[in-house]
Amino acid sequence: MSSNKIESFEQLDLAANLLRAVSEEGYKTPTDIQVQAIPATLAGKDVMGAAQTGTGKTASFTLPMLQRLEIHANSSASPARHSVRALILVPTRELAIQVYESVKAYGKYSLLRSTVIYGGVNIDTQIEALRSGVEILVATPGRLMDHLQQKNLVLSKVEIFVLDEADRMLDMGFLPDIKQIIELLPEKRQNLMFSATFSEEIKKLASKILINPASIEVAKQNSVSDLISHVLYPVDTKLKQEFLVDLISQQALQQVLIFTRTKHSADRLAQQLSRRNITCAAIHGDRNQLQRTKALEEFKQGLVRVLVATDVAARGLDIEELTHVINFELPGNPEDYVHRIGRTGRAGRKGTAISLVSREENKLVASIEKLIGLKLKVEQANRKDDLELMQSSDSKNKTASAGPKSKSGARNRVANSQSSVKSNEGIAPFNKGQAARNTNRKNKANKIIDPLFTEPYVSSYPDNSSELANNGGKIHAATHRQHSRKPVPALFISPAIRNKAE
Ligand code: AMP
Repeated sequence: MSSNKIESFEQLDLAANLLRAVSEEGYKTPTDIQVQAIPATLAGKDVMGAAQTGTGKTASFTLPMLQRLEIHANSSASPARHSVRALILVPTRELAIQVYESVKAYGKYSLLRSTVIYGGVNIDTQIEALRSGVEILVATPGRLMDHLQQKNLVLSKVEIFVLDEADRMLDMGFLPDIKQIIELLPEKRQNLMFSATFSEEIKKLASKILINPASIEVAKQNSVSDLISHVLYPVDTKLKQEFLVDLISQQALQQVLIFTRTKHSADRLAQQLSRRNITCAAIHGDRNQLQRTKALEEFKQGLVRVLVATDVAARGLDIEELTHVINFELPGNPEDYVHRIGRTGRAGRKGTAISLVSREENKLVASIEKLIGLKLKVEQANRKDDLELMQSSDSKNKTASAGPKSKSGARNRVANSQSSVKSNEGIAPFNKGQAARNTNRKNKANKIIDPLFTEPYVSSYPDNSSELANNGGKIHAATHRQHSRKPVPALFISPAIRNKAE
């Protein structure tokens, strides 16, 4: 079957009950990964899928899985008639919930049973669900290990094993758990593995799990959707919050996902935005499951305008029609930029990824641009307005010219910022140092140049940005990096702590 001729789900030989569910979801045309992965999976092949979230990959493995397992569908109340036939392993609670919701949606006209297990919530209801018997199990590794140790389920009848977001699994140090879980699966099974990126570690894992897989790649490694436009605003770190408030109100952003680098700055930013009457919630590894689910639901329903998230917490989030993602702080790892902005521009819709970049973060821009093969569009100042504002700032508050360490100068500059943001075409680069230097340049308006572009970069971080741990941006000795080469929240690094957190 030639994949480029497929324009409808009917052409994919899916059963009527699945076609009906898909149609009720409003899907008209299968996405690229669905066109390629569905026939291969239906044919019983192992699959190695190179795909990011937002490509429709969940349906690409769930639909053929439901079809292949349909022979086991039955209405018996006996748990013995409902063995676990498919195991879908995912790295985070949020992704687990989303995948489970997809399984329920696509399987709504099937008698196959499913459930989801993840940490951070009471285990008893999960035990009950497992004991009554399910064919499809969505799970995060830590909680699954707990259930296996308690003998709440067996995996000996699993026919299909899905490893979703394998790259993030490894980043989060789940490899030892994954290995143990695989040991408990029957040798003869179908394996489907998905990863947005392909490191040597991922290739090694794939070679151990998959047998002669169909290799499916729907977007070039680390490429980003053409539907996303990238905008960079140079903003001094201390002025970012004010700039953000302006940006949200000037662009009338109604639903915006904002990324910070650390749990601490996520909390702080959420508090600051709330104080400025911008309804806001934060999700990160320190929030309990109830808080995270509530925040996400409120955001999805439009009850809060802003969701502030850290990288790990936001992994896999699927928010329909999200138009804007803002990087309040750039991620230390350029691949996380791809993951972050992938929350927008999904399912054929346009999106905007805005990054507020301080001088210290400037070197990260180059590595992001190199990775995605695109230049981020720098939005320059409306220089006339900027000058006027800085002059008025200077005359009102002399301390503003005292130098970069003057807090009141920063505040004064910010106080005038509301009117400096005219539109997304003319946002002044917020730079406190520039405001200070402006005292000597009052009469040289057209000579003001943002030092971000004219002065050599001086790092305030060590050379290896991966040394930046989740410590409020402070340098933190990375003593536990055996699990990960990337900066991940400390919560996820130690298996002991991680299990608690899950
Ligand atoms: P995923 O990559 O699985 O996270 O899916 C991203 C989003 O695309 C989800 O909101 C899905 O509901 C949606 N989606 C999946 N397949 C299709 C399709 N064929 N047509 C339109 N939307 C889809």
